Amino acid sequence: MKTVLILAALNNFISTAHAFTMNNSARLAFGQDEVIVNVAAGLCTQIGISDEELLSIVGKAVDNFWNKAPASRLKLRKGNLINVSGLYHSASICQAATNCTPNSALAVSSDILVTCNDNATNFPTNSILGITIPNNIAAGTIIGSLVMIGDNVGNQFATKNTNEKTSIIAHEIGHAIGLGHSPVADSLMYYATRDKRVALGRDDLDGLSYLYPKEQPFSGCGTIDLDSNQNPPQDWWGGLLIGLGIIGLFKSLKQKIKFYT
Ligand SMILES: [Zn+2]
Repeated sequence: MKTVLILAALNNFISTAHAFTMNNSARLAFGQDEVIVNVAAGLCTQIGISDEELLSIVGKAVDNFWNKAPASRLKLRKGNLINVSGLYHSASICQAATNCTPNSALAVSSDILVTCNDNATNFPTNSILGITIPNNIAAGTIIGSLVMIGDNVGNQFATKNTNEKTSIIAHEIGHAIGLGHSPVADSLMYYATRDKRVALGRDDLDGLSYLYPKEQPFSGCGTIDLDSNQNPPQDWWGGLLIGLGIIGLFKSLKQKIKFYT
């Protein structure tokens, strides 16, 4: 019975240890280490946000969230305002709603593009705040991803404060770099807390380092501070002498303090 309970507990641990999901089943990721996040200029017409404000929020989203992952090779960089076709504001992100083949007219030539969009297929209700898809893929690698922010009249994105807008866009950028939703509530990629997060959660970090592992240079076998003769290294003596010096200094100070009290 005990064995069964232990195995059940272990299974639970294993199943939650790697809970993150991919945006697709192909483990797609950008090939390069630095990915730029640009903003489509002049396309946010309804949600009361200027181009510069949106670009600034994008900068916070990458620096406060995704760039704070030491085990990931990926570095995201705030890009620029760029001029794109009005289709990015009006067209559906998918060619068909049932099977989302990316709309090729909106393929992002490189990196990540954030745009406002008011298409009713993308945003059938005002509570859908953003939609994202890697829409330019070649040889199993993401070339470009598209993030759409709901710009339909009454979209609730407009009512969020700057911190909430930042975490919502950070969540969408998570999809743009290849992550799906996490079932762990304490995650930016958890679908229901995307506007309440202030930092990545453990599962976000795990997913990011899985998709973008940082290679460690191989430096041979692990070593300890003893040479092959098992003698203390030279630095050990240096440390001892410094330690004795500090003790001597302390004693001398103590005597002086005694003298004046
Ligand atoms: Zn999502």
